[in-house]
Amino acid sequence: MPVDKIRSEAEAEELLLLLQKFYGQPVMPLGRFCKAITTWMQCIVQNNTDPELSKTLLHGSDYYTFLNEISTDIEKSNLLGRLLFAREPLRTKKCPIHKGHWNGQAMFFEPCPEKCGGTGWLPERAEDQGFTGVLIREAREVDGRLQYRDPKTKEWIDGGKLDGDWDEDDGDEV
Ligand SMILES: [Zn+2]
Repeated sequence: MPVDKIRSEAEAEELLLLLQKFYGQPVMPLGRFCKAITTWMQCIVQNNTDPELSKTLLHGSDYYTFLNEISTDIEKSNLLGRLLFAREPLRTKKCPIHKGHWNGQAMFFEPCPEKCGGTGWLPERAEDQGFTGVLIREAREVDGRLQYRDPKTKEWIDGGKLDGDWDEDDGDEV
């Protein structure tokens, strides 16, 4: 039953129900799941800080003060991005250069020659590209215009007119 186009939210919800039956568990957009987790965290905090609620219920009293920090770490987690958005398996081999440690230079500016993407860990499969939201491409200036190299074809592609200073040796994020 391949579906090439979903025409309405009602139709999408119907398909979700079919998927739920197939998997035998709830199936929903990731954003909906994340909202539920955030709501749960907010309720735990409220249960421990609202004078009326905290009179009788102390669930989470030993950890609720950490939930804000945990929530931030979850939101910015590259590992969760790779597992949930990029659908990568957990990486198990350390990068010989970065040895399991995150590296911002390799993630955002200068690609790691071992292709860890700055995560410190090597992709498990050849098709795993990581999930940083940032593509690092070789770039140069030609006659006041940006050009960047297509990583697959290796051809230079026009990226438009450059404004302001640009150092040819810096490379660029595109
Ligand atoms: Zn590396």
